[in-house]
Amino acid sequence: EPVRHRVQNRSTDAPHPQPNGVGVDEGFANEPDTDPSLPANRAWGREILRSAADASVFAAGDAALAAAAVRDAGALERMMADARGSASAWAAAGADHRATVLHAAGRVLAERRAELLAVMTAEAGKTLAEGDPEVSEAIDFAHYYAESARSLADVADAQFDPVRLTVVAPPWNFPVAIPAGSVLAALAAGSAVIIKPAPQVRRCAAVMVEALWAAGVPREVLHLVDVPENELGRQLISHPAVDRVVLTGAFETAALFRSWRPDLPILAETSGKNAIIVTASADYDLAAADIAKSAFGHAGQKCSAASLAILVGSVADSARFERQLLDAVTTMKVGWPTDPVSVVGPLIEPASGKLLRALTQLEGDESWLVQPRALDGSGRLWSPGVKRWVAPGSEAHMTEFFGPVLGLMRARTLEEAIELQNATPFGLTAGIHSLDADEVGQWVDTVEAGNLYVNRGITGAIVRRQPFGGWKRSSVGGSTKAGGPSYVFGFGTWKPVAREP
Ligand code: GLU
Repeated sequence: EPVRHRVQNRSTDAPHPQPNGVGVDEGFANEPDTDPSLPANRAWGREILRSAADASVFAAGDAALAAAAVRDAGALERMMADARGSASAWAAAGADHRATVLHAAGRVLAERRAELLAVMTAEAGKTLAEGDPEVSEAIDFAHYYAESARSLADVADAQFDPVRLTVVAPPWNFPVAIPAGSVLAALAAGSAVIIKPAPQVRRCAAVMVEALWAAGVPREVLHLVDVPENELGRQLISHPAVDRVVLTGAFETAALFRSWRPDLPILAETSGKNAIIVTASADYDLAAADIAKSAFGHAGQKCSAASLAILVGSVADSARFERQLLDAVTTMKVGWPTDPVSVVGPLIEPASGKLLRALTQLEGDESWLVQPRALDGSGRLWSPGVKRWVAPGSEAHMTEFFGPVLGLMRARTLEEAIELQNATPFGLTAGIHSLDADEVGQWVDTVEAGNLYVNRGITGAIVRRQPFGGWKRSSVGGSTKAGGPSYVFGFGTWKPVAREP
């Protein structure tokens, strides 16, 4: 039996305000993460790492995957018709019923935390420290969207009509929380769902889907489909019977989907190029640690990751800040996730293209503060790299690399730093380290990003506390916030009913 004693994550945060009483969620509490300081929990973790290293982990989700294989257009059509046909009954079962099933899903995911973590470690290269909060997030989505479903029924003088068929196209970097969140939101609204997992992490998705089935989500309402990324994939995404596509991935992927079907009703969370500003008033130690963790957690493979740090005024020339950043970065242990001491894990695939270029080359006058190194022949394990000074408008300023490389920029003033932060095409997360309330106020007023973090790391948004979603090229189809009060409403329409007595 896994140890269930956990510490509450960030319990000091105030919940996000709920506008106008919609999405009322008083019954909701965030699932706590596993506390790794308890010896019994470390033993539990070692057991997970042992099963992640065992070949049998690659049988997880086999049953669901076998049923998921769709090999031709006829089979795809039948599956889609089946899903769409089941939607009315799921919607008609009522919001309370769906909420009950979603709460059960949260409980089953919690019971299967160890199994989910083993598959995430083996298949996605996640360390336990990265994977454990991700399972908590998936559980949170289940309970939170269950409450959202309940609130749909509570609105007087309006009826919510869900869409019938949602296709979910999740990424590989959060292989449990993001697919679970997208699926659960659509289910909460009353839609049927087809999920097409990222090919690198099929098993993670399969184990998650099995948990939802076990909790009582009907199989005909939730389909796992394993189509190749070719013509069949295109047919699935662009099919006229699809009412919503939920994509988390590259901006280019959203554009590709739209080229297939210009009127595609898409909700997409796309790329980021996120920066943390450090001003002279900051606590340098804390800033350095938060930058390192935000840049190199999961080897930088997060849309939310920090890939720039913008140092204002004297910070850029501070030997003390440089030493603290160097310490924070070079002490992060790089290794495979089955080794319990690893902090920075592997890339999902060998570095190539623009990421390989960013890890091995400099632009213009840039120099390495810390040069990244390939640690073995796999091409997947890289020690973190820090380059300076990234020039405004350069590739390192404007391009998402999605890997363990951080660029330092200098700015004369806070205004200039904010301009640099806003100059990228993206607007997902943003951070500032400053102990000056006026500086922070000015920054909050002018920064163009979906999620702001003050004096802390910029990754790991928590359901309800930090509803997650960006601006500009970080979002396509409207910036509704995942894990926020109105996300579920994106899967349907409201019909206001005005009646005379
Ligand atoms: N929600 C995640 C976070 O706050 C990021 C999701 C992503 O990388 O797509 O770190």
